[in-house]
Amino acid sequence: MESAVLDPVKNSVHELDTLFKPKSIAIIGASQKELSIGNVIIKNLVHFGFTGDIYPINPKMDEIRGIKAYPTIFDVPGTIDLAHVIIPAKMVPQAIEDCGKKGIKSVIINSAGFSEMGDEGIALQKEFLSKAKQYGIRIFGPNCQGIINTDPDYKAYCDFTFTFPKPGGISIVALSGGVGAFIMQSLYDLEIGMRFYASNGNACDVSIPDVLEYYGEDDQTKAIILYTEGLSNPLDFMEVARKVTRRKPILAMKAGRTEEGAKAAASHTGSLAGVDISTELIFEKTGILAFNNEEEMCQVAMAFATQPFPKGNRVGIITNTGGPAVIATDELISAGLQLPALSDRAKAVLQATMLPEATIGNPIDVVATGGGAHFRSAMDVLMDEESIDSIYINFVTAPFTDTNEVARNIVEVSNLRKKPIICNFMTNMSLERFQETAKILKDGGVPCYSFPTTAAKALGALYRYSKLRARDIGEPALLNVMNTKIAEISLNQSKKEGRSYLTADRVYDLLTAYGIPVPEWWLANDIYEAENAAINIGFPVVLKAESAAIVHKSDMGGVVINLKSAEEVRVAAEKMRDAFGDKGLKYLVQKFLPGGKELIAGVSTKPGLGHLVMFGLGGIYVEVLKDVVFKIAPVTDVEAREMLSSIKATRLLDGVRGEKGINKEKVIDIIQRISKLVTDFPMITEMDMNPIIAINDKVYVVDARIKID
Ligand code: ADP
Ligand code: MG
Repeated sequence: MESAVLDPVKNSVHELDTLFKPKSIAIIGASQKELSIGNVIIKNLVHFGFTGDIYPINPKMDEIRGIKAYPTIFDVPGTIDLAHVIIPAKMVPQAIEDCGKKGIKSVIINSAGFSEMGDEGIALQKEFLSKAKQYGIRIFGPNCQGIINTDPDYKAYCDFTFTFPKPGGISIVALSGGVGAFIMQSLYDLEIGMRFYASNGNACDVSIPDVLEYYGEDDQTKAIILYTEGLSNPLDFMEVARKVTRRKPILAMKAGRTEEGAKAAASHTGSLAGVDISTELIFEKTGILAFNNEEEMCQVAMAFATQPFPKGNRVGIITNTGGPAVIATDELISAGLQLPALSDRAKAVLQATMLPEATIGNPIDVVATGGGAHFRSAMDVLMDEESIDSIYINFVTAPFTDTNEVARNIVEVSNLRKKPIICNFMTNMSLERFQETAKILKDGGVPCYSFPTTAAKALGALYRYSKLRARDIGEPALLNVMNTKIAEISLNQSKKEGRSYLTADRVYDLLTAYGIPVPEWWLANDIYEAENAAINIGFPVVLKAESAAIVHKSDMGGVVINLKSAEEVRVAAEKMRDAFGDKGLKYLVQKFLPGGKELIAGVSTKPGLGHLVMFGLGGIYVEVLKDVVFKIAPVTDVEAREMLSSIKATRLLDGVRGEKGINKEKVIDIIQRISKLVTDFPMITEMDMNPIIAINDKVYVVDARIKID
């Protein structure tokens, strides 16, 4: 009997439901030509078992693929949830208007010839979009594949691709149809079920964040796979991604990796412009699991589709063969997992239940003659063991055991969903007997891999996600002792004067206004003033030539350190005057800070994203090793701390071989202040603090350049 009170969950409607859960679909541009998109989509819908109504629209045909066709959508008797538009670009705006009049709320435009084709296409895209807005239609595409929903209630294959996935828990969203389709095919080959698929081409309206949000709210979607080549609206994306990753994992491909590797960070942050590291940073900031390798990502997805997430990094290994356990251990350890020793109680149980030749420890080697009962006891012990968070199994189908019995036991324990289980399943799949074993494992939802490294990577990824989800990224700190008014006046004044780089005095004033420590300094207009300033500051001092024409001062002889008297200051200043000329030349006198550790920090901007803050060790670490890290501003205390710990040479910050470490808290504070400064004043487009000197528990910025827009 139909209940009058609707299920509150099922009743909640989403704007994109007509797109992802259509009950009736019109194909505008349906064709009888076998190899046309207008034909393939109908064929796919039928083949996949679409549960709703299909309305081919074609003025010349009575039926297409045996389905009654209609001359126009207005001739269709009922309502239409979703329309495919597969007609020449020029005719699309009119078609959208018609869809609006018919009350259609979602349209997939498969046709190409829009923004990807230059001005004329852009104009057409604008035209149909404004009509869509007018009628409240959501547009998917254009120049796209479409969507797929495997839910047995819908079976909507609104796409012209050729993979017909089983229902499951993974949803895919891909900007590129090519990549999307092969990810879908890879999941299919791995026998991983799929929930939704979406490839939105030009993405003129329904965007990647829109789709992510929809998947995020869908209870059946257990994990999301994302492929994108860039983010048109990074801030929108970040807001949605952050929300979604708290509820379920997003697995994504990193883009532009090699370029990043090559170019990231010369000693000056400005040269970073044009390097696309922002996507990776966005993934990191929002808790998206990034992969370098699409195959690995799909393999890992298998574990995400079926297994719970580990509470920690402690893994127990069960194996019935030696070598693969060694390989797995290597990979698990490098993924940050640990193999704790077993408790005495656990060992006692294993002593009593294992074969005499078994190895009792972690790994537990049940040996090749070990059967279902031995695997079972080992799994039960690890499930009960407080100090174990996940289980890794090597299972080779030894011919003298009942392998199906082993598989059934693994499935039973996996179904308890207490701790994640990953299985490296080594067999000969051409033997019927072992095919059966494989089927028991797969149907039972046990993620099976055919290499120990791949299996270990999958477990590593589950751990990585659980860590990301638990991570509290913190909040930008409330930093006190700041004089924003002084900063504002100084910046506006520089802008009024038409400068793109602030003069040294303004730079140091600005840093001071934001509580960023600088050594005592004076900007002298002439040599006499420089001598006096040096006496006031106290020797030894550093003298720096200041002029708009001089960029890298020391390269040109514009920095002389360790000056011990007024006389030495005068001599150094005279040399500079002779080298650079009097005009526009000033002399920055600064306290000399010998023997400190040199660090570097910087800021660059990314259109649409804002500022990136960079940190690293100075000197050769920047120039040779490019050992720097980036974060998107605003940088929180947690992130600033991560920056210090994630450079390769991080141990040098603590001091090695009896050398004293630097004051990390001060550096963390400075990074956040820099982040705050540029967030407060978006007109700052670049900053370079090179070096920052850490000395005697104190940290000072001794050289800085600030560029404004
Ligand atoms: P630039 O980067 O334009 O060449 P800097 O002001 O960074 O000029 O000076 C060059 C180098 O001189 C720095 O990298 C640092 O090693 C050293 N130096 C500069 N100022 C000081 C200072 N106040 N105390 C100690 N060393 C300094
Ligand atoms: Mg410098």
